[in-house]
Amino acid sequence: MTKVWTLFKVTEKIPAAGKYKCLICWLVVEIEQHFIDRWTTFFVCPICKSGSEEWPVWPEKEVWQYMG
Ligand SMILES: [Zn+2]
Repeated sequence: MTKVWTLFKVTEKIPAAGKYKCLICWLVVEIEQHFIDRWTTFFVCPICKSGSEEWPVWPEKEVWQYMG
């Protein structure tokens, strides 16, 4: 079975619990189901601020990569 890397923007819904990596600074976050139930969408990277309107990535770009 081929692994499909899936990219997400900060405003998109989180599809599943698991690990996600910031494409800019490579921070890996583990998102648990209770977090998804409460917040539902992806967030600005807490380290490099990707996904915000500041440096380095605009909000319309993908920031998070699903790792499983
Ligand atoms: Zn980052």
